Amino acid sequence: MIVGGNWKCNLTRAKALELAEQLNELDTTDVEVVVAPVALHVPLVQAKLKRAVSLAAQNCGFAGNGAYTGEVSAEQLVALEVPWVIIGHSERRTHFREDDDLLAAKLDDALKAGLRVIFCVGESHAERAAGQTVEVCVRQLAGVLRLPRFTPARVVLAYEPVWAIGTGLVATPAQAQQTHAALRAHVARERSAEVAARLRIQYGGSVSAANCAELAALPDVDGFLVGGASLRAAEFATIVRSCA
Ligand code: PGA
Repeated sequence: MIVGGNWKCNLTRAKALELAEQLNELDTTDVEVVVAPVALHVPLVQAKLKRAVSLAAQNCGFAGNGAYTGEVSAEQLVALEVPWVIIGHSERRTHFREDDDLLAAKLDDALKAGLRVIFCVGESHAERAAGQTVEVCVRQLAGVLRLPRFTPARVVLAYEPVWAIGTGLVATPAQAQQTHAALRAHVARERSAEVAARLRIQYGGSVSAANCAELAALPDVDGFLVGGASLRAAEFATIVRSCA
């Protein structure tokens, strides 16, 4: 299983270093753990972290280095020995208008540069209410599954219903299992049964110490992408242990 901690645009330098220090106490036996500080803090946190916890950037550019003001390229992350990047988070899709074509281009560029990627999909509240959950996620994956570089060794999917992110409204185990199973079946049809079986699908959205055990036990949940609770070392440790 794989657990990601998405720190989003939180923490100043001192708090990020304090959290990194606490993460060095984490028991990561049998669980892959990746944390994503803001890009500015990545080298600082990297210097503080021991090997058991990996690093991710929260975003990267779509076309390598060049005239892209404000971006950080996949190549630059690789040169810093950052192994992972999160692409397609709903906050990028919503606030920064990143669409499916741009996100597929980012994924392709990241994979070309040698990064491993947590790629996020998920439906809005209105889309779930309209019974469109799987249809929306499948649409978000269309360009992604066409990429020849997409392999389960390099890409982890994160199913994150938008209505569950930061709201305290976690998906029920039935909702999470049904969607994860449907996405895996879709990957099996589009790629192969072997790729689908090996693909790790994280659940994200209001994961907490209180709900992680039940979700981690589901057959198609292969870990979590954690926002708010990843800022609290003790709670994050409980979530990580639920995946061991
Ligand atoms: P949350 O965020 O755990 O605070 O709901 C999850 C995410 O955005 O990845």
